[in-house]
Amino acid sequence: MMPTAELDTPTMTRKLIVVGAGPVGCLAAMSFAKMGWSVEIYEARPDMRLPSSRAAAQQRSINLAISSRGIAAMQAIDPAAASRFLDNVIPMRGRMIHNSNGNLDSQPYDRDGQCINSIDRALLNQGLLDEALALRSVRAFFHHKVVSIDFDGRVISVLDANAGEQVEKRFDLCIGADGSYSVVRRQLMRVVRMDFGQEYIPDDYIELKIPPGRDDHDKPTFLLDPNHLHIWPRHSFMLIALPNRDKSFTCTLFAPTTEFEKLLHADQILSWFRTQFPDALEFIGTDGLLNSFQRNPRNPLVSIKVCTLILTSYFIVFFPGPQAKPYHYKDRAIILGDAAHAMVPFYGQGLNCGLEDVRVLTALLHEAGVDPATVRDPDVFDRRLSEALCRYSESRHEDLVAINDLAMDNYAEMRHSVTTPGHKLKRMVDSV
Ligand code: FAD
Repeated sequence: MMPTAELDTPTMTRKLIVVGAGPVGCLAAMSFAKMGWSVEIYEARPDMRLPSSRAAAQQRSINLAISSRGIAAMQAIDPAAASRFLDNVIPMRGRMIHNSNGNLDSQPYDRDGQCINSIDRALLNQGLLDEALALRSVRAFFHHKVVSIDFDGRVISVLDANAGEQVEKRFDLCIGADGSYSVVRRQLMRVVRMDFGQEYIPDDYIELKIPPGRDDHDKPTFLLDPNHLHIWPRHSFMLIALPNRDKSFTCTLFAPTTEFEKLLHADQILSWFRTQFPDALEFIGTDGLLNSFQRNPRNPLVSIKVCTLILTSYFIVFFPGPQAKPYHYKDRAIILGDAAHAMVPFYGQGLNCGLEDVRVLTALLHEAGVDPATVRDPDVFDRRLSEALCRYSESRHEDLVAINDLAMDNYAEMRHSVTTPGHKLKRMVDSV
């Protein structure tokens, strides 16, 4: 009879380090934990679930559009969690165009009623983090900023802001889900043949708010139809609004920096809004508008693209060459989400696509039999892992380039083309 110890030992514990507790990092942590990995997440910011850190965590849009692409990814990793998120979305069945003459034009996204969904970004991110941390093999470390990585030595250096010291952590696999300015990507570029270019688009964005109205019973109510994504297209700039569950709308003004530079004083801002968006101004309110302009950051928009060298008017990263393995290094590391392909938000697909990265990678790992519970030979495991990562890079690349291009094209569509005839039905539901 075999001694118990021998029966117990063969399974390996494989350690994954995820850099970044954004939505993509959290979903990746969930997926790998469910595949039997031991997972540690390192996040530079404080824990976003603490009330004191909510404002700091909220650096981008308050809400975002989640589409079937993102939902399918969450369903593939954890169907129960996905349905919990779906309980909290507001379906947007089409675009509502607010023309300059005050007319409204509803443009359904789909003939069969498919829609995109507005969800609170913080709720989604915190929810995914909670789901990940509910798994026994996942731990998260906040205030821990990854500063460098030795992929061959499988060691990551992390600045622990709580203790004020730099610590080293070992890993078998490292996932860089650390966003547009990814340190994992930068470190990968030292060991992988990657070329890199970047460009900002000429537009900035700022967030404004349409507060809830009050009905006859003094209950909060939506001031605009909540089942539309509202767009005020003005050709070279635009305002959009997505509904929130508290019956407010989050508006985002996208405009060239040259336009923003004309909006320095209260009277300039008000007069510009009265001319361009008189109906929106009525809902936002003059105080609300001026407060938002004063308090909310005006942010730039960057696009990160993994492609051969085509410099356009946006921020590009490209990893060319037939031999290049752009998104990963051996069996050691891979970049997912914005770290690999940040895109301008006009197609509403940046996050959806990042979540899809996790689904695609998970499927490839299953296909290749990368299973810590059943593969007992470490060399076989590493070889299979390396092959799966390689397949990811090869198979994912074209889709990521395509969606990045579509995101850029859709800006012209949203701010201009929607005002022209022939846009009654949006061609594809999986976009804004
Ligand atoms: P992030 O959300 O950027 O998370 C990265 C995490 O890594 C952060 O928490 C960061 O603190 C952490 N980090 C960074 N560096 C380090 C380090 N060195 N060490 C440790 N941690 C680190 N997408 C959609 O799909 N639909 C939309 O409607 C949509 N709307 C958008 C609107 C706007 C205005 C913008 C700007 C973007 C929008 N996006 C949308 C895109 C979406 O926000 C991103 O694609 C998504 O947040 C990417 O998720 P991520 O997890 O890859 O990266």
